[in-house]
Amino acid sequence: MKRVLSVILCIAVLFTLSITYAEGTDTENKPKIVVLATGGTIAGVGEAGKTAGYKPGSLSAEELLAAVPQLANIAEIEAIQVCNVNSDDITAEVWLTLANTINEMAQDPDIKGFVITHGTDTMEETAYFLNLTVKTDKPVVLTGSMRPATSISADGPMNLYESVTVAASDYAVGKGVLIVFSDRIYAARTAAKTSTYSVMALAAGETGSIGIVRDELVYLYEDPSRKHTTDSEFDISGLTTLPKVSILYFSVDADPDLLRFAAEHSDGLVIAGAGAGEFSEKWIEIIRNLSIPVVISSRIDDGVITRDNLLCANTVAANNLSPQKAAILLRLALTKGTMSLEQLEELYLQY
Ligand code: ASP
Repeated sequence: MKRVLSVILCIAVLFTLSITYAEGTDTENKPKIVVLATGGTIAGVGEAGKTAGYKPGSLSAEELLAAVPQLANIAEIEAIQVCNVNSDDITAEVWLTLANTINEMAQDPDIKGFVITHGTDTMEETAYFLNLTVKTDKPVVLTGSMRPATSISADGPMNLYESVTVAASDYAVGKGVLIVFSDRIYAARTAAKTSTYSVMALAAGETGSIGIVRDELVYLYEDPSRKHTTDSEFDISGLTTLPKVSILYFSVDADPDLLRFAAEHSDGLVIAGAGAGEFSEKWIEIIRNLSIPVVISSRIDDGVITRDNLLCANTVAANNLSPQKAAILLRLALTKGTMSLEQLEELYLQY
């Protein structure tokens, strides 16, 4: 009960803090889009004209929106400042706030969709978490930028504009959580940051983007086939935090003590193995004797890990989920209580 009350309180505070953007402009009959701002480079401020050496999460949601007055032509916007951080400081608590806020606000028939502004470093993780926990068909779109707002040719304003366009589009309904970046539309499950500096920093490996957007035109070409949003079995209402899952990266001579330590201090482990999820005899010996769930992913971006690849019978294959996404699915699986190996395996085939 206490948890439920604190979530309601948190949502109430967010509502009080929310501001209506484009007040005084003719927004009649425009779709209403809620922009949830969390920080990142898109809200970054640094030396005028420079792309490096800036402080992410400096501009407020209101300032971000004020930089794109054209938004008033396509939507009525309500802005909510959820937090204002570098996305490496996003936490499970922020994820829960985002999911609960969207789940609550999505009930409002006047709201057409949601845009979340976010740092690119962990954008794919927040997107996948929400893909598994929001309970709405309404579009939920994440975006950000690679250049701070103060740089030459900042990419944030166009990414924001195109994200609002997608969130307001009927074509984006029921597609799961999306990422819009540099004119491309990505599904949350397969999107990943693939460049440390390029404005085309988001991509989706073997599967590619599922659509494109330019100005007010939205074209979607694929439907994500794995379960998401309204088909997802994960219910986070009432949670205040998530189980702890650690990711261990294997490399030549990787220290077995680190693995032991992580296992002792975690509810579950994900191994970023070499090749098809492999690791040394020393690691095999330890992992074989663990009683917490262990999911095997790969440090390689391409390809898939199946049951046949597993070196230890007590582990589960992450399929083609990256280690960081395999960890999110395991954290959510652990909220459902104890699961058999077969049940866990099934989750990695469905989501
Ligand atoms: N470090 C930044 C962040 O993730 C990078 C970015 O937004 O592009 O918040």
